Amino acid sequence: MLQIAHQRYTCQECGRCCRRFLVPVTPLEIEAIAKLPWSPGQRPTRDFYCVVNGHAFFRHDAKTGDCVYLDEHSHCRMHATFGAKCKALSCRAYPFEFLATFPGEVTAAARYDCPAVLANAGHATERYRNDLEELLQDSQLHLGNGFSEAELDGLTRESILAICEFLRKAVLDTAIPINALRAMVRRLDQLGRPFANDVETLKTVLPSMRDKAIRETPPAAPGRTWPERTHLRSNLLDYLRYEQQTGDFSWRRRFRQVFLATKLFMGHGNPHEFSPLQPDSPFAKARIFDAKTWSVPVEPEVWNSLRRCLASRLESLQFFGRAYYGASFFKGLDELLETADSALALSRLHAAASHPGELVPEDCDYAVALIDHCHGKIHR
Ligand code: SF4
Ligand code: SF4
Repeated sequence: MLQIAHQRYTCQECGRCCRRFLVPVTPLEIEAIAKLPWSPGQRPTRDFYCVVNGHAFFRHDAKTGDCVYLDEHSHCRMHATFGAKCKALSCRAYPFEFLATFPGEVTAAARYDCPAVLANAGHATERYRNDLEELLQDSQLHLGNGFSEAELDGLTRESILAICEFLRKAVLDTAIPINALRAMVRRLDQLGRPFANDVETLKTVLPSMRDKAIRETPPAAPGRTWPERTHLRSNLLDYLRYEQQTGDFSWRRRFRQVFLATKLFMGHGNPHEFSPLQPDSPFAKARIFDAKTWSVPVEPEVWNSLRRCLASRLESLQFFGRAYYGASFFKGLDELLETADSALALSRLHAAASHPGELVPEDCDYAVALIDHCHGKIHR
């Protein structure tokens, strides 16, 4: 059974996914692609893949940065010559990702590093069901066996679905701070599995747990202590390593952003370097570690793409197990909700390098594209 997350998407043929991203290709696919019967003079290259950190990806042209199979009209030559089925699964599936979840069940969700998905522009994703089901039949070998016992964290399927559905609705509610939901989830984890697996009781208790968490959780301030700042810096560093794959930069803005990021990470090791007490620091403009930064965002609509992104991950369960380094349910959930902190920091960074004044939706979109691009995929 295939469950498709409720999103919107119609390809804009921008070519970004073939131009910027490292597109994985499996050994079996490499073998099959190498045997494709190109006619003389037509074969783009024999050397079509490269290996990075032990993983194989389609090679990019050194000058243009395009995949070696991309033509000048942003179309795939392999697709045009041999049809879609000859392409690697990653190419055929994008922007969708599959996850085998429970026995006989698979989810599909679209990635937010695709501009069309990020903009929520186009057809409802349900429209692609036939294509996705066909793709799924061709790809059974790649999907694995679904969640392991350890990944399920002692929870039943019904309990996991009830928690995720409750949180999905909650993250879409702009009146609910995401850090309060994170506190609620931690509390739920502490209450033990017999409690969490009693689904009927759980459903009646979750709203009051949410309300209590909203009342008692102070405004998010993850930059306040030294360990939190270190953790956040490390997360941001990971994201910024992949930034050139998702962003559209002017060189001026890129230079400014690299400068600000360098100040962040090379700040003489002083945890107070960027605090409001040092307003002269160039990075203070980004106010990454300013308590005000972590209180409620300026306008709720700024965070629309972040909330939609979290909701689709919750709906598709693509935040633990194979989707996130083999993490267990509660660990994956905590990491997923924590991305809201990184989104705020990256949005500030983008705003500081791009325009004066408060955050605008484009700042958040930049952050969400980058975070979702990296979620569970950074090769450490
Ligand atoms: S990035 Fe998205 S919109 Fe652009 S070509 Fe790829 S699938 Fe289409
Ligand atoms: S092989 Fe084709 S679809 Fe895949 S990344 Fe290259 S150009 Fe894009």
